[in-house]
Amino acid sequence: MAFSYVTHLSCSKCSRAYCPDAVHHLCSCGAPLLVNYDVRKLAKILKPNDLLKRNHDLWRYHELLPIRSPKNVVSLGEGMTPLVPMKKLGAEIGISHLYMKDEGMAPTGTFKARGAAVGVSKAKELGIKGLVMPTNGNAGAAWSLYSSRAGIQSVIIMPEGAPSMIRSEVTSTDTHLFLVNGVISDAGKIAAKAATDFRLYDVSTLKEPYRIEGKKTMGFEIAEQLLWETPDVILYPAGGGVGLIAIYKAFKELQELGWINSTKMPRFVAVQAEGCAPIVKAWKNKKGESEFWPDSRTVAFGINVPKALGDFLVLQAIYETNGCALDVKDKEILKEQKNIIRKEGAFVCPEGAAAFLAARKLRDSGWIEEDERVIIINTGMGLKYMNKEFMDLPVLQPGESIDSLPVMQ
Ligand SMILES: *Cc1c(COP(=O)(O)O)cnc(C)c1O
Ligand SMILES: [Zn+2]
Repeated sequence: MAFSYVTHLSCSKCSRAYCPDAVHHLCSCGAPLLVNYDVRKLAKILKPNDLLKRNHDLWRYHELLPIRSPKNVVSLGEGMTPLVPMKKLGAEIGISHLYMKDEGMAPTGTFKARGAAVGVSKAKELGIKGLVMPTNGNAGAAWSLYSSRAGIQSVIIMPEGAPSMIRSEVTSTDTHLFLVNGVISDAGKIAAKAATDFRLYDVSTLKEPYRIEGKKTMGFEIAEQLLWETPDVILYPAGGGVGLIAIYKAFKELQELGWINSTKMPRFVAVQAEGCAPIVKAWKNKKGESEFWPDSRTVAFGINVPKALGDFLVLQAIYETNGCALDVKDKEILKEQKNIIRKEGAFVCPEGAAAFLAARKLRDSGWIEEDERVIIINTGMGLKYMNKEFMDLPVLQPGESIDSLPVMQ
């Protein structure tokens, strides 16, 4: 039995095929490449129960990942994050089956570890010695750590405004970190030039076909954790939207495998911030692609992406599943984040909080029904964002006592 059932890469727009054993970025038509597998053949020999004895990480799905040889796997144990029931919050919002897929539990504190694990492993398999990546922060942190583990040199370019903790995550490795006085698209242009100038492997979102495969495992896990039942709604805080495209791809592959209902798809919801909502705008206007969003800004910096290369794939996933796209206000995101932490003890990140807030709004409008099974992707750990409002504390002197406390119940 092969370790991977990868067959070829194919263009997401024109379907042109490429070999997965050579370095490729975009199709000659400019669109991203997606990885294909011989799912039919795999369906004959692999059954859901075969997974039960495997490790609790994303490599349990190695047949549907692009790495040919297990010796190239670079892993920190990523994957199999918990699917946490959110009963109190669900009761407050009016959704009786509300779950959080908690990606804050991943190495490096965000789901970016999944993309990095698979992307870096494949880079190693392809013989890459150095790579360059533009990032809002979390992807850069993940790729720099996984690159260190793989012995691959990395150059990361991120906006000056990225949280300082994420910067230090990168500078704690031997990665070359550059800051840019701009947004991720500015970093992208610098990265593209550096890639040619210094012969580096450009791993910008979707310019490299393998990161999405790592993110895809979130979809496999959700299905496995629900005992191969399909949820009704999945809400995702979308920047580049890769995670959403990836989870949709996972569900399609599981249908082809015959492991889940072949007619039911979850409705996908792309959640963005009011200060950067190009996909929401395109969806509202029934467009197939988004337009560049000028002066983008939001506290949920992981979703500050003014124009995504894969926007048309995100929109396709939404249209094909009768999903929707929704934007939410920064102020309300922070309020919801605090509410979730206080009510459920879950230290979600602002991006995750945005998705919870969207669920609340969609329940209020009736788009989500009370008894539907709803999954929120909490993409990262709230601890990575040093929020000033959580740090304003009284300081006692040694020997001093506590004057008063509100009555505890
Ligand atoms: C990168 C990131 C996102 C957005 O992910 P995409 O798949 O690129 O849309 C959301 N939340 C956090 C915390 C992130 O780091
Ligand atoms: Zn093409």
